[in-house]
Amino acid sequence: MESISKKQLSSPEAMKLENDHGAHNYHPLPVVLSKGEGVYVWDAEGKQYYDFLSAYSAVNQGHCHPKIVGALKEQAEKLTLTSRAFYNDVLGEYEKYVTEYFGFDKVLPMNTGAEAVETAIKLCRKWAYEKKDISENQAKIIVCENNFHGRTTTIISFSNDPDARENFGPFTDGFIRIPYDDLDALGNALKENNVAGFLVEPIQGEAGVFVPSEGYLKEASKMCTENNVLFIADEVQTGVARTGKLLACDHEDVKADILILGKAISGGVYPVSAVFANDDIMEVIKPGQHGSTFGGNPLACKVAVAALDVIKDEELSNNAEAMGDVFRERMQKIVDSVELVAEVRGKGLLNAVVINDSPDSSTAWDICVALKENGLLAKPTHGNIIRFAPPLVITEEQLHECCDIIEKTISQF
Ligand code: PLP
Repeated sequence: MESISKKQLSSPEAMKLENDHGAHNYHPLPVVLSKGEGVYVWDAEGKQYYDFLSAYSAVNQGHCHPKIVGALKEQAEKLTLTSRAFYNDVLGEYEKYVTEYFGFDKVLPMNTGAEAVETAIKLCRKWAYEKKDISENQAKIIVCENNFHGRTTTIISFSNDPDARENFGPFTDGFIRIPYDDLDALGNALKENNVAGFLVEPIQGEAGVFVPSEGYLKEASKMCTENNVLFIADEVQTGVARTGKLLACDHEDVKADILILGKAISGGVYPVSAVFANDDIMEVIKPGQHGSTFGGNPLACKVAVAALDVIKDEELSNNAEAMGDVFRERMQKIVDSVELVAEVRGKGLLNAVVINDSPDSSTAWDICVALKENGLLAKPTHGNIIRFAPPLVITEEQLHECCDIIEKTISQF
């Protein structure tokens, strides 16, 4: 076995290594990144790009934010992991900070988004048996078509994406799938027996940035309350200022019963996720019933506090809202004048442009490859939809430069 070389790998070398030795569970754009700062990333040969994916909305605060990286370095030299077998002197302060920040009594710390979704499902089920008197093993959770909540066996059990499911069965029971943004369907599902929760993305990100009709979340949460059903918001992608408010639910003044966060809660510096609820719900979880070796470790806690400080200090919700308006206005001009572009939609800096071609054409992918050549990185979500989600620290001048790149690139097609 050769030791890891100290020389900078070329892009072809790095891609070959990943291809030869890593599972092929992703299909990356052919670019090898080796450095990031703010809205920029650089490839192995030193070419600079605008990052319009932000690691699927994890890097909202910009790459390698000095305050977040500083917190990581400082804590890394002191104490990294204790497990929850012992107390540590950082977790409690983090829990106080983050529950006040998001307005809940309690937080349950995890690491990845999928783990936090699993946590919310378990919490909802346990609440249903212990507080709503649903009979054993009968609890049902309503979910939406085209949802994306992660990759675990239970989560893919209620996905309708063939790639996510095929040959991964048998699946977990206990979910009712209804169309997204459809209050009648929700009303009907709520009439079924033993419904415990409604798990929903306030904007469906992975599905292609589908923004529901105005008032949907508000009415859905009201209907859940009336039926004693928990409204569970998966804000792993939409949360932490991405859509122009701290949470996407804030656009409609909706307070979830269970809130799920991940990704940008750490600015993409370290895997941190969290599930929030008030005491009447969270108290059903007792010692030994749920946990994670790494969840709530001191490094994660310090990084998350720094990342959330940055969101407030730099007013990133406001910037996301303002820059989102500029972006959609510029893209709308392209939609109005270029036949190849069908639609722009989104909220804040979570946006998508729909390419006017069949969903299984390679046009969106080819546009993303051309965008890369022109210095901007983005990725198709589903077939002909390109998501544009830059770090929220982007300035108006930078954003206009990016819109120029997108305009120029599309005109080449
Ligand atoms: N939930 C939503 C809404 C997501 O968008 C994602 C990831 O894209 C997840 C959950 C899963 O997060 P992770 O990849 O950290 O497990």
